[in-house]
Amino acid sequence: MPSDCLFCKLVTREIPGDIVYEDEDVLAFNDISPQAPTHILIIPKQHVATVNDVPEEQASLFGTLVGCAKRLAIQRGIDASGYRLIMNCNGEGGQTVFHVHLHLLGGRQLTGLG
Ligand code: 5GP
Ligand code: ZN
Repeated sequence: MPSDCLFCKLVTREIPGDIVYEDEDVLAFNDISPQAPTHILIIPKQHVATVNDVPEEQASLFGTLVGCAKRLAIQRGIDASGYRLIMNCNGEGGQTVFHVHLHLLGGRQLTGLG
C-alpha cells in the first residue's frame, strides 16, 4: 500500500470514514463532499491506482464493485427511481484520488455527464 494513499488509510482506519459496508475485499463509505442525497464510494481494499492498472485477469473486480453498488442502491431504496455509477480515470476523466473507486449517486434527478 502506498503510504500516501488516502483511501488505503480509510481501509486501515488511519483516517476516519463514514463506512456503510465492508467485507473481505471491499469498503464502501459516504463521500465527504456529496453531490447527491446518496453519494457512496465503493473501493477495493487492495490498492490499485486507476482503471488502467487493473489487469484483465482481475477484471472481476469491477463486477464486485458494481454488485456492491447495486445492493447498496436497493438498501437505500433508489434502485427503482434510478442511480448513476461513475468511475473516473486520470486527469481528464476527473480522477482526484488515485485508488480505484466507484461512485454511487442517487436520490435526485441527475443530469448531464460533464
Ligand atoms: P474522483 O474525483 O477521484 O473520482 O473522486 C474522489 C472523491 O473522493 C470525491 O468525490 C471526493 O469528494 C472524495 N473524497 C476526497 N477526500 C475524501 C475523504 O477524505 N473522505 C471521503 N469520504 N471522501 C473523500
Ligand atoms: Zn490506495
